[in-house]
Parts: sequence; C-alpha cells; structure tokens
Amino acid sequence: MAHSPSVPDRPDLDLDPEMPEGEQLDVLKEHYVDLVRINDQLEERVDDATDRRETLYERVDELERENSTLKTASLYIATVEEFTDDGVVIKQHGSNQEVLTELEPSLSEDLEAGDRVAVNDSFGVETPLDVETDARAQAMAIEESPDVSYSDIGGIEDQIREVREAVEDPLSDPEQFAEVGIEPPGGVLLHGPPGTGKTMLAKAVANETDATFIKMAGSELVQKFIGEGARLVRDLFELAREHEPAILFIDEIDAIAATRTESKTSGDAEVQRTMMQLLSEMDGFDERGEVRIIAATNRFDMLDRAILRPGRFDRLIEVPEPNEDGRARILEIHTAEMNIANSVDFDSLAEDTAGFSGAELASLCTEAGMFAIRDERTEVLMEDFEEALEKVATESENDQRYYVY
Ligand code: ATP
Repeated sequence: MAHSPSVPDRPDLDLDPEMPEGEQLDVLKEHYVDLVRINDQLEERVDDATDRRETLYERVDELERENSTLKTASLYIATVEEFTDDGVVIKQHGSNQEVLTELEPSLSEDLEAGDRVAVNDSFGVETPLDVETDARAQAMAIEESPDVSYSDIGGIEDQIREVREAVEDPLSDPEQFAEVGIEPPGGVLLHGPPGTGKTMLAKAVANETDATFIKMAGSELVQKFIGEGARLVRDLFELAREHEPAILFIDEIDAIAATRTESKTSGDAEVQRTMMQLLSEMDGFDERGEVRIIAATNRFDMLDRAILRPGRFDRLIEVPEPNEDGRARILEIHTAEMNIANSVDFDSLAEDTAGFSGAELASLCTEAGMFAIRDERTEVLMEDFEEALEKVATESENDQRYYVY
C-alpha cells in the first residue's frame, strides 16, 4: 500500500526589523517566490491524491460487484413437464433428472408445460425464462426476404424446376391441389455434395414466393442444445406458422435423422427424441398450409428411411456437382460484377475445373480477383484464374471430405 508523501516544509520568514526597507522588500519577494513554489507543489499533490481516490473508488466498485456475483448461486435450466395436485414436475436439462417441486402461486399462473425455467439448488423455480432469450433465437436464423434469385444459381436448372413445382406451386396456388383432389408433395429433401447450391435453392424459393426463410442446422441442434432438440423442433414449426408464408429449411438433417444404431447412449436417445418430434410435426402438418419444408443433406446414405415416407420428405431431389456447362454458367454468374479481361476463357476454365462444386468455383473467382489486386491491377486476366486454379485445387485436395457420393 502506498503511503501519502510527506507535506513540504512551510518556508520561514526571517525579517529583521532593523534591516533597511529596500533589503526587507527583497527578503519579502524571495519569501513570496518560495510560497508560490510550495503552493504549486501542494496543488500537484492534491491532483495526485484526487486521481488516486478515483482509482480506489473504481476498485471498490469492482470488488463489490465481484463479491455480489460470488454470493449469488448459479441457477439451473429446466423444462416444466406437467402440473399435478402436489406441485409441478420439472426436468433439469443436461442431467434429465425429473423432480416434483412446489411452485409459488404467482408463477403458476404464467407457466405452462413445455416452458423453460431457471431453478435453484433445491429445485425451487426462481423465474420463467423469456421466450426471446430462449435457445430458439440462437438455433434458428430468420430472413424475411433472402436476396438470392433463381438466376443466381447455375447448372442445376432441372432441380430448380422440380423445387418450384414441389414448393412454389402449393404456396402460390394451394387451391389447385384441392380442386384436383390430391395432397401437395410433403417435404422436399435436397441431397448432394457440399457447396452445390442447396441452401441457395431454398433461399431462392423463399425470395420468389415472398416467404420468410427460416433455417435450422441439424448439427447445431444436437451439439449445442443437448436436451432441447425435441422442444426446438416444436418451436421451429411454431415459428414457421407465426411467419406464414414460410420456407422452413433444415440443413444437415442427417444429424437428427440418421439410421438408428444399436447403441443406447443417452446422446443417441436424445437424437432419437429429436427425430421423433420432427416426424410427428410433419405428420400433423396441414399440407395445404402456407409453410413448406425443405431439408438438405450431404449424407443421403445415412438417412433413416422413416423420414422418407409419404407425407414426410417424399420429394427427393439430387443436387449434383455441376457438369461442364453448369460450371461455365456458375463462373459467369460469379464474375458478372467483376472487371474481367476479354482473354478470360470460361469454356476452357470449365473444362479444367472438373469435380469443382459451385462453392469452389465461387472461391476460384474471388482468388483470381485477389491475384489481380496483389499485382496492382483492376482487371482480372486469364493468368489470375490459372494461378487461382492451382491454389484452389491444392486446397481442395488437402480438404478431407466426409461425404459419400
Ligand atoms: P452445404 O451442403 O455445404 O450446406 P450447399 O449445397 O447448401 O452446401 P450453398 O450454401 O447453397 O451450398 O452454396 C455455397 C456457396 O457456393 C453459395 O453462396 C454460392 O456462392 C456458391 N454456389 C454453390 N452452388 C452454386 C450454384 N449452383 N450456382 C452458383 N453459385 C453456387
């Protein structure tokens, strides 16, 4: 701890009354200069002390905050399962422990089965959790009007047509299905290698039909929201109904709908519950409603066939890697806004990029642009594409792929 510095000595005035007046005046002047100097020193000390006091106040505030945080016990998250005469049954997330606990009368009016609550060490319900702070806001991405259109997607014209028939028609003209007396197709499943435009396709339909685009990734659901998968699936469908017309896009559906395994770990049971919820939501869904469901996977081989039954994902559309014409078209799309030299030959680039996905072609164009910038040019030349091609091809080789096609 720093101690206060000692106060400077006060200057003495030693004035001899016998001294001639002129000399007395000199002594007084000297004394005055001393007083001013000491005064300056004292003012400096006062400033230092004020600064130090501020710093100490801040530290005290910090310690008080730390102290109160340490004193408050953390709360656990649980879901209300059912109300009984003896109290409420809640299930703690993570441990999945079910507990019968009492509820304060003021809380029981606001709560219903399925709500999330914060509980203390003795499982007393402390507070209901606000829907807005609920996990669903983090797990689902909503776009009112995605800015992708069909003309931004190259090389998969047949797939675009099929998706339009299966998704756009029931949304834009549901009556025709009723008149003909058939059910519109259930969900659409897009399957194919990564980066081939599956997400773009779903967004483009949403854009074209003025529908809200709601996306949820299956993998996030099982990795981040353990114990909440089934509830989030229910919320997802509810959210879609709130935003009708809506396109509900479930990416990486294989994460929640993989073939059942023999293993009986709790993680598998959790994935099972999530999938059962998905199936029951789809079965109970009014197909003529204004919500259409599109799912995507890179692992079609792993899917549980139960999700492919009629009324569920009964429209399977394969989105393959683009062929040569498709690649040329995708290159054109991604260079439309770029300053490209006449020497750039898209046909020959399309020939040299066999096996490239749409995403890889998009990054090829960006890389070519980067080579031009590095060379301090504003125009992108064929050499830039050639150099970019080498770079992207090497990166793709190093990129281990886990999908099977
Ligand atoms: P994943 O299976 O990895 O989720 P995906 O098939 O959903 O991939 P997208 O997210 O639609 O792929 O595509 C990623 C990016 O790649 C797009 O933003 C776009 O830039 C480019 N791309 C992919 N396919 C095409 C295509 N057919 N036409 C134009 N661009 C494409």
